[in-house]
Amino acid sequence: MMILGENVSNLKVIDSSLRLMVIPISVASMWLTLTNQEDNPMYGKLEFSNIKGLKLLISISAISAGYSLVAVISSWIKNLMNKAWIFLVCDQVVAYMMVACGGSIGEIVYLAYNGNPKSFWKLVGDGKGTSFWEESWVEAGKLKDTFRRLFLLESSRGATIAERGEIVDGVWRWSWKWRREPRGRELGELEGLMKALEGFSPKINVEDRDFWKLDPKGEFSVKRLRKEFVGAGERGVTLDRRTLWLKAIPKKVCIFLWRARLGRLPVRVELAKRGIDIPSVLCPRCEKGEESVEHALVGCEKVIPLWKRIGRWWKINIGSSITIEEVINLGNQEGVNSKGGRRWMAMTWCVMYLIWVNRNKIVFQNSKVSMEESLFSFQLKAFEWVNLRDIDLAVDWKTWMTDPLNGS
Ligand SMILES: [Zn+2]
Repeated sequence: MMILGENVSNLKVIDSSLRLMVIPISVASMWLTLTNQEDNPMYGKLEFSNIKGLKLLISISAISAGYSLVAVISSWIKNLMNKAWIFLVCDQVVAYMMVACGGSIGEIVYLAYNGNPKSFWKLVGDGKGTSFWEESWVEAGKLKDTFRRLFLLESSRGATIAERGEIVDGVWRWSWKWRREPRGRELGELEGLMKALEGFSPKINVEDRDFWKLDPKGEFSVKRLRKEFVGAGERGVTLDRRTLWLKAIPKKVCIFLWRARLGRLPVRVELAKRGIDIPSVLCPRCEKGEESVEHALVGCEKVIPLWKRIGRWWKINIGSSITIEEVINLGNQEGVNSKGGRRWMAMTWCVMYLIWVNRNKIVFQNSKVSMEESLFSFQLKAFEWVNLRDIDLAVDWKTWMTDPLNGS
């Protein structure tokens, strides 16, 4: 070795180079492990500290890197070399640890670049490219594994998500094709299945795609995911169970309102946000404001007069700029007995749903019925629901029309 001088043996150079090589590898594996984390609204946060094995791996990598550096430096200092046996022992220990965690390093590197079928999940768009039963697209995993009995009842096992439902009045509804009606334990599974699917709705004109949970550079970045599928917490909507499901209100209306509160109704602004090409984002009713969920249900200048008249009917003051949440909660003010408050809530949900139905008639059937003219039919509908569906809230017609909030 001419560069390093006569008295340095080739062996020592090889030894030192090998030791130095360990440093970048260890640092790389530490870096990969530490930076590989994912946080998304649907699946929660996963990072290295959640995994014990990874912690061990990090420590070993750090020790190896440090030890290699120390070993290289000291091997070039004469008087330390006398204690060669120390290095021999340490070499053995580190080598053993490296072998032990080599497997995990390999796995991490493999996962980081190739992924693992188990770590893939499907981001469902319109549901046309995803098998309902055979792919993993809900948190529960593959539905055919979780709901075996139902899977056996399915008449077409390869059905896509899109083939298992349809959008009715802007709300996604599941439709099943069983070989015979489910019974016994199958009914229990059906209940579980509905729970697992709760809140799901396909996104029109968005393609289904796979991506890897831990891959920060996946085609669907976390940021983009967040933007497209905003979770409840982020919009400050509290999903209070008590106000979420009301006996007096049909389930489909509950789901409708739940989606409305999450900003997930197919109003024009939301469609445009999802990259769907629509001619205008203006409200089809007033053609002035942008049609957001808030605008469509409470904010539109053609809808506000209706809410004002409802306010006069209930003797509740409703301002001109009010949000969906505020409208719903108006009945919960102090001094109002809970029966009246619940009636108010049922009525507002009913009215919002009917406003939505009316909006869809305008968009899809060119109908032109003024909201104010509809008030009576809304009063009738809400009365029907309150009386037929929840005995606790029942009220006679005269009270309903004069003092629904306080009347018993
Ligand atoms: Zn409008």
